[in-house]
Amino acid sequence: MALNGYWRFMAICTLTFPGTFSFQQDQPKVLLLSFDGFRWDYIYKVPTPNFHAVMKNGVHVKHVTNVFVTKTYPNHYTMVTGLYAETHGVVANEMYDPILNQTFSMNHLDIYNSRFWEEACPIWVTNQMEGHRSGDAMWPGTDVKIHGVFPTHYMLYNESISFEERVAKLIGWFTSEEPINLGLLYWEQPDEMGHIFGPENPLMGAVISETDGKLGYLVSELKKAKLWDMLNVIITSDHGMAQSSRERVIELDQYVDRDLYTMIDHSPVVAILPKEGQLDQVYKALAIAHPNMTVYKKEKIPNRLHYKHNHKIQPILAVADKGWEILQNKSDFSVLGNHGYDNTLPEMHPILVAHGPAFRKNVSKEAMSSTDLYPLLCYLLGISPLPNNGSFDNVTDMLAVAVKIRPTSYEQESYAYFIGVFLGSILVIVFLLVFIKHLTHSQLPTVQVQHTEIAQPLLQG
Ligand SMILES: [Zn+2]
Repeated sequence: MALNGYWRFMAICTLTFPGTFSFQQDQPKVLLLSFDGFRWDYIYKVPTPNFHAVMKNGVHVKHVTNVFVTKTYPNHYTMVTGLYAETHGVVANEMYDPILNQTFSMNHLDIYNSRFWEEACPIWVTNQMEGHRSGDAMWPGTDVKIHGVFPTHYMLYNESISFEERVAKLIGWFTSEEPINLGLLYWEQPDEMGHIFGPENPLMGAVISETDGKLGYLVSELKKAKLWDMLNVIITSDHGMAQSSRERVIELDQYVDRDLYTMIDHSPVVAILPKEGQLDQVYKALAIAHPNMTVYKKEKIPNRLHYKHNHKIQPILAVADKGWEILQNKSDFSVLGNHGYDNTLPEMHPILVAHGPAFRKNVSKEAMSSTDLYPLLCYLLGISPLPNNGSFDNVTDMLAVAVKIRPTSYEQESYAYFIGVFLGSILVIVFLLVFIKHLTHSQLPTVQVQHTEIAQPLLQG
């Protein structure tokens, strides 16, 4: 899907939506909140009464497996598309597209290049094409025009805008005369302080408490606006955090000349683009360099990571063991906490709690994948999910009412089939009508058209 992804999703986005454009005041409403870098076990490190209150009246998923690489942009895009990074195409925080000869960097305005986002179609675009409204408070990618569409309401990314201001905007959008049914809210903590202190630092206790306070503020504002009991709220994160140390640094300069390659994405999973003709030399030098660094040629990246089939994944990938950093030189060492590591490591896993009329109460669920969130969100919104790597069956046990209807997911191919069947049926009916009219010259028959339902299984694996 990688190379023709743009056109594939343009076609799906265009074809999939009937565009009913009808609004109901009582339509189901969903708020998805991400506290960046909130590790799954932070709620056990210090008192977090607001998280625990939501858990008691809702669902807590103990183990959420996110996607590789366990970084901010890939995982936020997975949550809103249900796709692995190799499929949605936002494969790292720092990317180079060799076809476009363009770079993407979260530290520059390069993120506004739509082409980096258009291998997939995020949920706010789908929601709007089905006739609803979305409001996005700084969720990564929501201020980028994707497939020609911005969210109905959105905020230009600005780190200095307070959590309280973001909440006020969202509540305004949910309660306006033309309300949104989908809200996305992003907050930078506790990721930023997690990088500075490291997750095992006792100073993180205050950061976790403060983040819990932000959740408390959100709940109290939603209650004031009479939204809390009718809104389905999911509070989650993109990834966890592992403790780094100056003692656990792998220095690439010790093993290979930096003139032989360009470092595209950075520690702890390093994407390496060798200079022309240098692939084997760079690979050989790094493959045996350090026992705490695993180096893959792109085609040998394990299938389980779902991180191979995309042109923006570089020819060499170096993956550090938990707690290790891969830098060109030790002098580049700058953070005591980091993430990006193998997504099977518990330290990389995010929190997930859910509350609202659609969810069961005081339920603890063992495990899910972050790709499962997308079909769940589509179900809650009553919209049709696009093909995805999640499983709705994995999350039905979170719901208060037994689910009888699975959301349907349409493949582009199935539309051709559907349109073919539809046009074919009309032709047959017209032919029958003309034929029978010709026979009887008087009486038109009643033609029973059988309703055909096409339900494609969601993509798995
Ligand atoms: Zn981070």
